[in-house]
Amino acid sequence: MEIIKTIKEMQQKIEQLKKDGQTIGFVPTMGYLHEGHLTLVEEARKKADIVIMSIFVNPLQFGPNEDFDRYPRDIERDERLANQAGVNFLFYPEVREMYKTEMSFHITVKGLADVLCGSNRPGHFDGVAAVLIKLFNIVQPHFAFFGMKDAQQVAVVTSLVEQFNFPIEIVPVPTVREEDGLAKSSRNVYLLEEERKDATVLFQSLQLAKGLIKAGEKNREKIQSEMKRYINQHSSASIDYVEIYTFPDLKPLQSLSGLVLIAGAIRFTNVRLIDNMTIDI
Ligand code: AMP
Repeated sequence: MEIIKTIKEMQQKIEQLKKDGQTIGFVPTMGYLHEGHLTLVEEARKKADIVIMSIFVNPLQFGPNEDFDRYPRDIERDERLANQAGVNFLFYPEVREMYKTEMSFHITVKGLADVLCGSNRPGHFDGVAAVLIKLFNIVQPHFAFFGMKDAQQVAVVTSLVEQFNFPIEIVPVPTVREEDGLAKSSRNVYLLEEERKDATVLFQSLQLAKGLIKAGEKNREKIQSEMKRYINQHSSASIDYVEIYTFPDLKPLQSLSGLVLIAGAIRFTNVRLIDNMTIDI
């Protein structure tokens, strides 16, 4: 695995790879790798000749009171894991390399960013879109892999490549979980010991919703309130949101039908967790 820290060097490599007729699979991450990230690499290896992973904690997608400074980082461990997983090139630029000058442009994600995490984290998806435009332009992948753990991000990036005509196939990858159902996340390390067990409530509430739907429940609000009741009864977490939308256009729905996204975000002492499930009704 080669580690590349500058945009120029990454662009030169890409040019050579393309000349050689290689297909490129891209896995953008913020590092502190876990099995979720490594599953994206596995999928990328199946579809593309060359796998490029980026590790970049993007300041633009963090709000002023969010965890940019304390976001977990361990580049040596990440290098080892990425190498073992079969990444060919690890693109690892510093913030001053990616944002050499203050950005004169601001991209605003409308509609898709007004709900779920977007309404809790104003500006977050604007920052995600900006960095992905940069990364897509630098890496020029044929395929880009994104986890369904961040379903709203999948919706945003799918729309981004469509509306800005990037010739990139977005490949969504199912959420990888711990044995007890907790979705793997770099931020799980911030759960206090006594919160770790409770953290499964989010996944369990999604399963509860699935059970209700399978049993014929069609009332969105009833399902949401059952999920909230469950979370409140079984944990100390506070609820940011529990919502149900169409997927991938994230429109509200009254009666449940078609492909729906059930998503939730909850807060513990030092960490905010998200999870979701899509169900075809
Ligand atoms: P992050 O480093 O958190 O920005 O995540 C980088 C990529 O890994 C994103 O596409 C995430 O959706 C994906 N990802 C994170 N956690 C998981 C997981 N538990 N299962 C599958 N994909 C994941």
